[in-house]
Amino acid sequence: MKKIIFIFKKDKYKTARGGHSRLLNICCRKCESVIAIYQKDGPGNLRRLYIDRIFAPAELTNLQKFSIAKIPILKCKKCGEVLGTPCIYIKEKRKAFRLYQDSVIRRLRKLDE
Ligand SMILES: [Zn+2]
Repeated sequence: MKKIIFIFKKDKYKTARGGHSRLLNICCRKCESVIAIYQKDGPGNLRRLYIDRIFAPAELTNLQKFSIAKIPILKCKKCGEVLGTPCIYIKEKRKAFRLYQDSVIRRLRKLDE
């Protein structure tokens, strides 16, 4: 199996949240296919997916360079389920997807996967 190395992003956002970071597979609640690989910083629920914390797939990480108006809603590629809407987290001026309640399943990723 191909080995992919992920290096956690460390910046002021991570520092602000404290604690440790985890790498998660974000999966569609409906069909369970993987939507994104995501770095979650600190404790708490997953209410937003910050675009600068998405490691894969490329079509989501590439969105970072677009203005928020051009970012499409987050949908499952497999079943078409709508999972979240683009937003800006005002406090930090970060682009993110606001997730609908219970739209995704988070699964901890093994780092040597
Ligand atoms: Zn789905």
